[in-house]
Amino acid sequence: MAGLDPENWEELRTLGHRMLDDMLESIKNVAKGPVWQPMPDTLRQNFKQAPLPQGAQPLEGLYEQFASAVQPYAVGNRHPRFMGWVHGGGTAQGMLAEMLAAGLNANLGGRNHAPVEVERMVIRWAAEMFGFPDTASGVLVTGSSMANFIAILTASRAVPDGTAVREQGVAGRKLVGYAAQTAHGCVARAFDMAGLGMKALRRVPVDAAFRMDMQALRRMVAQDRADGYEPFLVVGTAGTVDTGSVDPLDELADYAKAEKLWFHVDGAFGALAQLAPDYAPLLKGLERADSLAFDFHKWAQVPYDAGCVLVREQGRQAATFAQSLAYLSREDRGLAADAPWFCDLGPDLSRGFRALKVWFTLAGFGTQGLGNVVAQSCAVVQYLASRVVTTPGLTLLAPVTLNIVCFRVDMPDVGDLDSLNAELVKDLQESGIAAPSTTRIHGKLAIRAAIVNHRTTKEDADIMLAGLVDLAQARLGRPLS
Ligand SMILES: *Cc1c(COP(=O)(O)O)cnc(C)c1O
Repeated sequence: MAGLDPENWEELRTLGHRMLDDMLESIKNVAKGPVWQPMPDTLRQNFKQAPLPQGAQPLEGLYEQFASAVQPYAVGNRHPRFMGWVHGGGTAQGMLAEMLAAGLNANLGGRNHAPVEVERMVIRWAAEMFGFPDTASGVLVTGSSMANFIAILTASRAVPDGTAVREQGVAGRKLVGYAAQTAHGCVARAFDMAGLGMKALRRVPVDAAFRMDMQALRRMVAQDRADGYEPFLVVGTAGTVDTGSVDPLDELADYAKAEKLWFHVDGAFGALAQLAPDYAPLLKGLERADSLAFDFHKWAQVPYDAGCVLVREQGRQAATFAQSLAYLSREDRGLAADAPWFCDLGPDLSRGFRALKVWFTLAGFGTQGLGNVVAQSCAVVQYLASRVVTTPGLTLLAPVTLNIVCFRVDMPDVGDLDSLNAELVKDLQESGIAAPSTTRIHGKLAIRAAIVNHRTTKEDADIMLAGLVDLAQARLGRPLS
């Protein structure tokens, strides 16, 4: 028999249905198990030592290994009390779309087929969601790290004589850009990858609410110009990763326009607040950005991975990535027609069908359904912050803007509060009760809870806090006060 199709389709079908049933059941009951549990060392060693397989192994055995050695030890972000970093919870619907996409095995680099049209549709919807014109270009990518990189590279090629930059590199051009000190690390990495150098990203101080200080930005740009540098870009963040603060986007849009700078917004998770009417006003100015990076896999709950970049001006993105103008005049009919293609809008040629799970999510829940998720996450965080304020021995460390709260156990007579809180977060993670993460606020180690999961309720906030207080009292040997 030729090829890799199963010898016995009936057997495969039965096993496939079992996998599907098991996984749906595990999603349904996810809250009943621990958030996370460390992987036993014996299982880890099995992976570390597994030899390259030469013969065939039955799929059933592989599935059993997945079910016993992988699934129970995953990161835990499906669980309502996963509150660390910024992780989406995923949905059963998104998983089914992912399965269909894998079954179709489409390559969305380009060519003349329906899956490409699905991606064009979701890009058009994304543009509309964020107030971009329908002529804006965009592409689905792995995540906001890649989306920010594509936008920053595009900005660096939109400078006067940008074609020369494409051909000869940035050498000799003293291009510099600006982002607040609270910007995500991937912005500096994008500068590095774009060959601009990480020092070409100037870090602007923030105010007491962790928002970019506009006066400082003005001073820094003026100083750079006086010193012979070529400012080309300012990056505003909608939802910083440490505290969820939002830079003054409307002022940034005015300033960038007046100074002829490219205005990029990193809205990795925060941009989705646009869908919640009570929170959308915080993002005013985002709709004026030249480019936007955001994730569908965070607050929009699309299974990993699914990020997106949008570029306002038609043709700009292609002018950065298309390999020649011939991209516009591909075949007039047949499978090689229907240009331009997504491979002209980013570094990837072969690309998967991420658009299907994005479609099923956007259409399956509607922008209202996703907006409700955003509003609910923010309500949980408001509640959590109010409980922190009224719980003896806990202190709030940063103002709450969206869905992130930073706080810590804070008792005057405890010597090293940083290590106490760092240990408590690990205790809590290992308990399986909840999984917040940590950050530093004004140098202090903070417990950071980011509510991104659509399953998280106020009750989960209560359970997390109760667990934390118990663990802290166990460590200190006395009640919090
Ligand atoms: C998560 C995040 C990123 C990086 O996005 P990935 O999807 O993880 O690549 C960038 N910026 C902010 C503000 C983020 O929260």
